[in-house]
Amino acid sequence: MDYDVIIIGAGPGGIFSAYELTKLRPDLKIAIFEAGNTLEKRKCPIDGEMITKCINCKTCSIMNGFGGAGAFSDGKYNITNEFGGTLHEFIGKDKAIDLMKYVDTINAAHGGAKTKLYSTASSGLKRQCLQNGLHLLDASVRHLGTDINYEVLTNLYNELKDKVEIFFLTPVREVKIIDGGYAVVTDKGEYTGVKCIVSVGRSGSKWMEKVCEDLNIKTLSNRVDIGVRVELPAEVFSHITDEVYESKIVYKTEKYQDLVRTFCMNPKGAVVNENTNGIVTVNGHSYEDPANQTENTNFALLVSKHFTEPFKDSNGYGESIAKLSNMLGGGVIVQRFGDLIRGQRSTDKRIAKAFITPTLKATPGDLSLVMPKRILDGIIEMIYALDKIAPGTANDDTLLYGVEVKFYNMEVAIDSNLETEHKGLFVIGDGSGVTHSLSHASASGVYVARYIAETKV
Ligand SMILES: Cc1cc2nc3c(=O)[nH]c(=O)nc-3n(C[C@H](O)[C@H](O)[C@H](O)COP(=O)(O)OP(=O)(O)OC[C@H]3O[C@@H](n4cnc5c(N)ncnc54)[C@H](O)[C@@H]3O)c2cc1C
Repeated sequence: MDYDVIIIGAGPGGIFSAYELTKLRPDLKIAIFEAGNTLEKRKCPIDGEMITKCINCKTCSIMNGFGGAGAFSDGKYNITNEFGGTLHEFIGKDKAIDLMKYVDTINAAHGGAKTKLYSTASSGLKRQCLQNGLHLLDASVRHLGTDINYEVLTNLYNELKDKVEIFFLTPVREVKIIDGGYAVVTDKGEYTGVKCIVSVGRSGSKWMEKVCEDLNIKTLSNRVDIGVRVELPAEVFSHITDEVYESKIVYKTEKYQDLVRTFCMNPKGAVVNENTNGIVTVNGHSYEDPANQTENTNFALLVSKHFTEPFKDSNGYGESIAKLSNMLGGGVIVQRFGDLIRGQRSTDKRIAKAFITPTLKATPGDLSLVMPKRILDGIIEMIYALDKIAPGTANDDTLLYGVEVKFYNMEVAIDSNLETEHKGLFVIGDGSGVTHSLSHASASGVYVARYIAETKV
């Protein structure tokens, strides 16, 4: 065998598996195969001037490379079982929280200690939410910010690079079961390992499905979350974001009894494009350094869709809606809340008149031509509900960018060791469909590393 452990994917899941393995078992020979680039070479060509739209690079610098999808994220590590994945259902609630806390100490030790750990525990926001038909989920969150997150990743890379062989720009095409382990097929050749940890994230979702098909691993269809990114002046939410930073607030709509929730709140942040398998959707992030902050806060409002028989392709449903916005707007569409309510499209002129400057150059348009009525009705109801705890949310000039889609991978059949029915083949992080966040994905990496470290390799 070439290696004791092969890791596919250098996102948080892969990085934390490698980190923990090198710490506990320095005797092991480990390799990471990563489809994307090194951290410093990851550069999205969109500069807002020469290139304003996604040009579908061969490997997306936002999603692929060292640090994975999280590299240029807001670096919000939520310590909670309430959202971010269902890791606790596999390994137990206490264990999951312990591992997320452990991940936090590693991040802190690699440059994150100067950032703040926020908590909803002692905030008065919970009561205020309940009084207005809203429900605040409990969590602690370390906000690294895009800048410190980058620093932490750089430090982790420097620590790993001499202990682990890392193959960049080397997508694994196929995983094969061989005598005594696994072989990974790449354009540079075939490599073998006794154990294999697959951590390919959301960008590897289609590939993961194929691996499961090839190796006869069962999968379950997952949900898709569809919605918009809201952008408003930072002052509107500052009484909340200053205290808890990220608030996950859930609202049950009167009309359909659907749950709408806030997601990925970025105080003084920027709205950005996201490219998943060639489809452009919207996301957001923010910096810890005040010099890079904006005057706006953004967050997503999402509705989860689960489908029952005969329809199984929840991601396909989300993709179709995102494609519609790409077809009409050439990418992401932006609309003022007031225009949406009046039933008129936004135009460049109307956006220019607004008392807020958009942080993303998107095409002014009409989201009601893109979003299903049920989802849009829910989002509008929630904006009015949020207006009660953060007056100004339902202002005419509040910007809505669409569509934001959270694709979830098919849930891969794994056991309580996060191991497939093929012994020694583990599937972790967002690629498993079990986690959907930095902290859960990282924790799953540590968990599997500890399990492997204890077994004889
Ligand atoms: C813009 C943005 C902002 C975000 N903000 C936050 C946030 O603030 N907080 C939060 O909790 N979460 C956030 N997320 C989500 C978070 O980034 C993910 O949950 C997390 O990165 C998942 O980690 P992972 O290791 O499972 O997968 P990923 O980070 O997706 O890493 C998977 C890696 O595998 C590689 N890969 C894929 N297929 C192959 C293959 N066949 N061969 C080799 N390599 C392959 C990919 O190139 C990628 O680098 C954000 C995501 C985005 C895109």
